[in-house]
Amino acid sequence: MTAYSLGVEIACDGPGHERGCPESAAIRASSASMTAAEVRADGRVDGWARRRRDDRVVDLCPACKTTP
Ligand SMILES: [Zn+2]
Repeated sequence: MTAYSLGVEIACDGPGHERGCPESAAIRASSASMTAAEVRADGRVDGWARRRRDDRVVDLCPACKTTP
């Protein structure tokens, strides 16, 4: 049995208010990525984006990033 460290999980915040991500996407972090910054760097490679929505910053997967 192998134990995996979960590290930080960053999930998609969806395309808008009250709308969840249709794919419930989460960034697949590389095994070396443990901090939120490292995991987000992995996500950028896969096309994830950080956007400011009202007063908070949200993480968007490639699909939600292009949904208005
Ligand atoms: Zn999404």
